[in-house]
Amino acid sequence: MASIEHRKRVLLVTDIDGTLVAHDTYDSGPAAEAVASLQRAGIPVVMCSAKTRAEEEALRVRLDLDDPYIVENGAGVIFPVGFPGSRAGDGEQELVKFGLTYREVREGLEQAAAEAGVAVKGFGDLSIEEVSELTGLTLAGAAKARTREFTETFVLENPTPDRELLLAQQLEERGMLMLHGARYWTALGRHDRAQAVRYVVSRYEEFGPVISCGVGDSASDIGMLEAVNVPMLVQQADGSWADLELPGLVRLNGIGPYGWPHAAEVALKRERDR
Ligand SMILES: [Mg+2]
Repeated sequence: MASIEHRKRVLLVTDIDGTLVAHDTYDSGPAAEAVASLQRAGIPVVMCSAKTRAEEEALRVRLDLDDPYIVENGAGVIFPVGFPGSRAGDGEQELVKFGLTYREVREGLEQAAAEAGVAVKGFGDLSIEEVSELTGLTLAGAAKARTREFTETFVLENPTPDRELLLAQQLEERGMLMLHGARYWTALGRHDRAQAVRYVVSRYEEFGPVISCGVGDSASDIGMLEAVNVPMLVQQADGSWADLELPGLVRLNGIGPYGWPHAAEVALKRERDR
């Protein structure tokens, strides 16, 4: 774990898909070594994505990471066992929940769809095999994506802008939001990545001032990037940067995990200059 005891005050928040790992291969390429160099320097690497706890945990093991992580679009933050200032009991992880429960979201989505007169199919309605087929994930990956705690990913059948709007309105009446991802929609409570990032930063600030860096690749990272001091973008698969405007936004060279080491260099430089 990055040593708060030594008052390391720089941290790096990172998106996963298309940023820390390549979209298609899920390979972290040169980012893996860059993660290791940050860990050696005592700089926490905080994952922040739409992925589930099970999915992020698998990547944490692969990258040998032991820092807090943000799951399901900011619905939950998990602080590892022994995190300084942890509110959890001995030997336990601390889970901070900003979202609804999965059951609440499923019920709300079901009611909203019925009221809007649209048909939806959530991961919870599908078998692991079907999720794998739909997403292109391996069976093991599909099982992890389906292990949801706070949000539901779903397909809207025969989507039209009107149907989308109707469903979004019905969800809103139930205190929920709907996000459009690359291929699916996600129903969730009223929370976002920015809130979760600010919360994680505040926990580190209990030990002194923090310089927060953040790196993403797409418009869905806007909240996370707005919440940090040093927002950065890696290039997307076509070599472009997401169309975002933020004060001080750093556009890094390199697609996804090939640009990620430059984000690590920025964080390391901040650590040396602080
Ligand atoms: Mg991404």
